[in-house]
Amino acid sequence: MNDVDAVKPAEERAKELRHPEKAHKPAHPIPRKPAWIRVRAPTSPGYQETRALMRRQHLHTVCEEAACPNIGECWSRRHATVMILGDTCTRACAFCNVRTGTPKPSDPLEPENLAVAVAEMGLKHVVVTSVDRDDLDDGGAGQFVRCIECIRALAPATTIEVLTPDFLRKEGAIEAVAAARPDVYNHNLETVPRLYPTIRPGARYFHSLRLLDTVKRLDPALFTKSGIMVGLGETRTEVLQVMDDLRSAGVDFLTIGQYLQPTPRHAPIDRFVPPAEFDNYARLARAKGFLMVSASPLTRSSYHADRDFERLRAARLAQDTAAG
Ligand code: SF4
Repeated sequence: MNDVDAVKPAEERAKELRHPEKAHKPAHPIPRKPAWIRVRAPTSPGYQETRALMRRQHLHTVCEEAACPNIGECWSRRHATVMILGDTCTRACAFCNVRTGTPKPSDPLEPENLAVAVAEMGLKHVVVTSVDRDDLDDGGAGQFVRCIECIRALAPATTIEVLTPDFLRKEGAIEAVAAARPDVYNHNLETVPRLYPTIRPGARYFHSLRLLDTVKRLDPALFTKSGIMVGLGETRTEVLQVMDDLRSAGVDFLTIGQYLQPTPRHAPIDRFVPPAEFDNYARLARAKGFLMVSASPLTRSSYHADRDFERLRAARLAQDTAAG
């Protein structure tokens, strides 16, 4: 630790330990959030119960690891996004609060523990995501498949949404997860292609787009979903281009939310996008043909995913009926 580090608040030092690769990056003060982004502190009994269950089953959640602002609301409704394959990511995206470093071997009991938790919570819909596991031969695809199988066995009425990494250079991984037939296959583009080198340096925009296109081609009945954050410096024209790209990959559901900077060493917020601009994006996206759009400052790809899945199914039914 150098002299400057010695006077840093303990909280900031702890956050840097989660992201050792960011310790040398310049610090950008976190701007005060506008009134439309304030959320209530998580205190409800439902929140406490969800937390206790996750601990008991040794499960990680992206809700906690990503410091999601919606945790109070989601957990009080017993809606959580489970993060499999450990709590340590092999990538180092500039926007993400998940711990980075060398992960532990994957836990063979995790799929069953997850299914037990899903059954115990009586979830109608579950979202399963993971850290990036570039260190594994299959990128973790096999664990996704086992999780889907275990949930189907222990909680057959629960619908399953997977939010997967990009499986870059992991041959057969996308196909394996799609073949396990989750109800929704979600993969986030996160930002516009121009910002990939700074915001998502380990990923490739067109690879992520191709992933979504591949899933839809393999199984057109599967719902596909993707999301981006705004407020990172993208332009409106670039956002509209991403919408067109996603539509040409056949993506059904688009989410757009405000980027929030987890620590001073993460990518700085360019601006807070006002709610009216989100409404405008939502209108334009619907006009471009998405079955569903969720766009608001607090939208996250798993926010209200349970309720949205029912709306997604109803939207497809209405579309099919109209088409005769
Ligand atoms: S929006 Fe998603 S990540 Fe955030 S608390 Fe809700 S379920 Fe968790």
